[in-house]
Amino acid sequence: MSKVLSPVKVDAWISGEYKAPSSNRYFDDLNPLDDTVYAQAGWCTEKDVDQAVQSAHSAFQSYRNSLPKEREGWLCKAAELLEQRAGEFVEVLVDEGGSTLLKARFEIGFAQSILRAAAGMARNISGKTMPSDVPGRFSMSIRQPLGVVACITPFNIPLIKGIRLTANAMAIGNTTVLLPSEEAPVVATLIARLYQDAGFPKGSFNFVTGFGHEIGDSLTGHSLVRAVSFTGSSRVGQHIRKLCAEHGKNVILELGGKSPLVVLKDANIEKAAADAVFSIFINQGQVCMGASRIYVERPVFDDFLKRYVENTRKVGMGDLRDPTTMIGPLINQRQRDRVRSHIENAVARGARIETGGNWYGNRCEPTILTGVTPAMTVCREETFGPVTSVYPIDSVDEALALANDSVYGLSAAIYTSNITTALKFAQDIKSGMVHINAPTPQDEPHVPFGGVGESGVGREGPDGDIEALTEWKWITVQL
Ligand code: NAD
Repeated sequence: MSKVLSPVKVDAWISGEYKAPSSNRYFDDLNPLDDTVYAQAGWCTEKDVDQAVQSAHSAFQSYRNSLPKEREGWLCKAAELLEQRAGEFVEVLVDEGGSTLLKARFEIGFAQSILRAAAGMARNISGKTMPSDVPGRFSMSIRQPLGVVACITPFNIPLIKGIRLTANAMAIGNTTVLLPSEEAPVVATLIARLYQDAGFPKGSFNFVTGFGHEIGDSLTGHSLVRAVSFTGSSRVGQHIRKLCAEHGKNVILELGGKSPLVVLKDANIEKAAADAVFSIFINQGQVCMGASRIYVERPVFDDFLKRYVENTRKVGMGDLRDPTTMIGPLINQRQRDRVRSHIENAVARGARIETGGNWYGNRCEPTILTGVTPAMTVCREETFGPVTSVYPIDSVDEALALANDSVYGLSAAIYTSNITTALKFAQDIKSGMVHINAPTPQDEPHVPFGGVGESGVGREGPDGDIEALTEWKWITVQL
């Protein structure tokens, strides 16, 4: 049962106030479980984007001089408030985004950790002193915040990304304009209230709602926006990358994936078959790091597949608020059509459904395919749903070659009891992140999170964000 609409109408948040869209139009934000209208959000235009950027730019003039202890205090307070308001966040994540309770609680807990880790960043922007060839010269370099950072987030983890992109940027003295996914504007209002109540100055955080394909370029291309921190599809990411290159802006892109999970014959098969369930089916496969390609050494292939299918058939598809439910609805019709077409295309070309393949309303059963060939779309493209393919392999070298045969390179996993083999694989794979004997989806607030190839550019996390969202200044003193 959907809960009370809260709020029914979402306006943009500019200079610490809600602002109706200049278009005076609102779009429907649907509950993906049954496609009923959950909320209505402002159909913002270029004009609203400009106001939000101007607000962030004007706030930056004083925010840049805020003290580390102030930013640290606001971020810690925001983490505390998020903990207190967890119930409210759960309701919105479930009803607006189709999250299960399991995934909503994970997002809330992880977002708190991100805020606390961001608080630590406030004191960690360091420069250096350097020797000089000029007699009597004292030479140093400092890092300074850039200014306005545009933060653009996807639908699948709207709280984690809405917090991470903005909190890290603001921790080091930048101000922000968030463009949340059009599927998650209500989450953005909760974030705005969190920051406001935590004490962040007006204008340091702003958001606009609307459609990225209409207003995105006016945000990323705005002359006062100094950097773009984007998480979303590779297609949109590549577009933003070109635009930022043209305008000379720094960019962090966290994009799509087709992550491989490799199981060698000396692995703990029981653990691998249990982890492979979480690796792809959590959040109904709407996970950038989802293990959508599983390579298993032939001698253990049948054993792995049998256990994997058995485990997958036990995955909960009940009430979203039941803590054992793992599979919720896919976010929208476009996404459902894509998942359906990937399964149908594979089956039409000879793949076998080992389990799953059925739909219950907007939910797709967790689906395992075998007999998948490179000619099938599911083999190479990101499905972003609860679908994976299991392939037999004859050696770790073959697994590595197949794993690397992808335009993506976000996360990877290898299961083996031979640490030398595992580390060699980890070094040789084209991937931003590799996990040995652990699932592909992993994240911690302080690690360099990100991918290579079409999976992204730059790294999220303290080091990557300080690198991309501050600039060096060289200062000398003639003694
Ligand atoms: P999407 O690319 O369709 O949309 C993401 C955001 O970009 C939305 O807010 C959208 O409004 C905005 N946008 C669209 N066009 C734009 C433009 N021209 N300029 C600026 N912004 C624009 O992605 P999605 O469907 O919301 O999310 C799913 C994708 O995100 C998947 O590919 C998934 O792998 C990826 N993802 C990656 C990570 C990661 O950390 N690597 C995490 C989560 C999701």
